[in-house]
Amino acid sequence: MAVPKAKTSKSRTNMRRSHHALKTTAHVECKNCGELARPHNVCPSCGHYDGREVVAPKSRA
Ligand SMILES: [Zn+2]
Repeated sequence: MAVPKAKTSKSRTNMRRSHHALKTTAHVECKNCGELARPHNVCPSCGHYDGREVVAPKSRA
């Protein structure tokens, strides 16, 4: 089994973890209802995409 030759320093650990921050998710305002939705995805609140209703929203099934 491979075993580390030297203890990882706090500095090395923190340098590695400098890339671990979470990024905020991308969002756009829905053209139909104005709700925030992920770009290139059907709006979860009104079911619209590209100006037309693609799926029925959950509230009025
Ligand atoms: Zn919408």
